[in-house]
Amino acid sequence: MNHGGTIPFIGFAMIVRYALKCDTCGQPHTVRIGMGHDETQVHRFPCRECSEEIVVRMDLNHDEVSWAVKCVENCTEIGEVGGAPIVNVDAIFAIPPEQQGLDTVFPRFAYLHDMYKAAERAGSVVDVATLPAGALNRRPYRPPDYAAEWKLLGRAWSLAQRGNVVLSEKRIGEASAKLYPNDPWKTSRIGCGGSRCS
Ligand SMILES: [Zn+2]
Repeated sequence: MNHGGTIPFIGFAMIVRYALKCDTCGQPHTVRIGMGHDETQVHRFPCRECSEEIVVRMDLNHDEVSWAVKCVENCTEIGEVGGAPIVNVDAIFAIPPEQQGLDTVFPRFAYLHDMYKAAERAGSVVDVATLPAGALNRRPYRPPDYAAEWKLLGRAWSLAQRGNVVLSEKRIGEASAKLYPNDPWKTSRIGCGGSRCS
């Protein structure tokens, strides 16, 4: 089953509702999913009736600013059932235990407020009104997708571990050009301790 849509910007503020039933016991649930920054986020939780594990996945396409939620294990998408247990999950922020199961809570907003205040203190707040259209969906303003970055850099790490520095650095250079075009990586930043690094 598949449930998705498009939005103007994939950001911190998005919480998606997804209704499903447990395939083991039939119990309906309403899952409130806090969007993250990775291409895929997987959430596991015990059925609120029979305690068997339920697994859902959200796929995010940052280029097309679209998303889709799918049942992965032990669940089937349904229409939302009033009064069904609420399950709050979030890709980035912890759900305070006292807010789990509640429908109209948005704990991520409290965390975001704290993050904004920290950014203010650090002088790193960006006025989005001054950015070109669509800039928030692109680097460097789009939040980092560490899982996607690791796909690129994990191979560089493994190449370097085996002593294949040339291929490793080629890999890092390609990843840097793709992910951080405004702040390109230079070979001399890593491994410099001798005269060959200038
Ligand atoms: Zn169940």
